[in-house]
Amino acid sequence: MPYKIPLFDLNFDDREGLAVCSAIKDNWISTGPRCEEFEMRFAKMLDVDYAISTSNCTVSLHLALLLAEVNSGDEVICPSFTFVATVNAIRYVNAIPVFADVKNLENPVIDPEDIKRKITPKTKAIMVMHYGGFSCDMNNIMSIANEYGLKVIEDACHGPLSEYNGKKLGTIGDVGCFSFFSNKNISTGEGGMLVTNSQKMNERARLLRSHGMTSMSYERSKGHSTAYDVIELGYNYRMDDIHAAIGLVQLDKIEADLAQRKIVRQIYIENLFSMEDIIIPFKKYKAFSSNYIFPIVIKNSTFEKRDNIRNLLAKAGIQTSVHYPAVHRFSIYKEFYNELPITDYLADNLITLPMYSKLSKEQIKYIAESLKIAIENER
Ligand SMILES: *Cc1c(COP(=O)(O)O)cnc(C)c1O
Repeated sequence: MPYKIPLFDLNFDDREGLAVCSAIKDNWISTGPRCEEFEMRFAKMLDVDYAISTSNCTVSLHLALLLAEVNSGDEVICPSFTFVATVNAIRYVNAIPVFADVKNLENPVIDPEDIKRKITPKTKAIMVMHYGGFSCDMNNIMSIANEYGLKVIEDACHGPLSEYNGKKLGTIGDVGCFSFFSNKNISTGEGGMLVTNSQKMNERARLLRSHGMTSMSYERSKGHSTAYDVIELGYNYRMDDIHAAIGLVQLDKIEADLAQRKIVRQIYIENLFSMEDIIIPFKKYKAFSSNYIFPIVIKNSTFEKRDNIRNLLAKAGIQTSVHYPAVHRFSIYKEFYNELPITDYLADNLITLPMYSKLSKEQIKYIAESLKIAIENER
């Protein structure tokens, strides 16, 4: 049964299709001029020196850990309240994820105090994730990193154009990673980006993205080079020009899309403000946010109660989700378990409501009303 109101809706029209056709007509569909333009525009948009396109954010995170020289047995402090890819990437380099809890239910981003408590001589890096497009406490995190000589990797998948103290998320730490998976703010189907201000990291990322080869086929086709060497064990983590063509159209739309999302969030808050049974995370957040998702947390609740509420919303035709089940509770992460009470509460009692720029005032009112009825019903 299709939902009356889906969780997410693509901001696509004829332009994305036309852009793909034009890439095909130009007879170059793998990594080429469109990827290059996408990278340049993305870097400019974020006011960062380098942007490197990739096939998805998960591989960007893998590259980021390689760039940060995180090795086997090193510890990386990370959230459990994130998408599993954030933590899987740490395992790709055989490093040890050390889970830190989030600050509180109002600010469910990694807690600098808990980061500090979890630092050991083996700690090599801190991986942060800007949940929902709302920034982690970067001032504190960067000063902890400086004090202990740690690298900072930002999983900024939720936050293209989100700001913190005038800087764009993803550009504050050593490396930032973005996703263009269909349901993200910028959608290309699959796709990712890595950003950095380090020239050295930029060069190495480009090498590792393409088998460790010293030149790429597009450069060779243009006669810029005729041979190549392989100087490091690399991967095929490249984006292609078909996805980049879609990405370029999406960049034309992103600012208007985010402006509309801001209005959607405002209407949600107006309609939910008086509900005493819920917490709206980041309610007091002032900086610009991408508003990737709209989560709420049920107070004095349980896993069963939350799921009953979600079922009632589904019956009303409203699709919801849970961003996220806690990573430290997954079977493969049992050996890295540690106690994270706030993360556990969120994972059991959070509901992600629909969020996209085309959501109308009437639809938001309907969602808010349905939520009120569902919660009353479960009292
Ligand atoms: C989507 C997402 C990823 C993974 O991105 P892909 O492009 O699908 O690999 C990683 N971290 C977070 C927080 C995400 O939301």
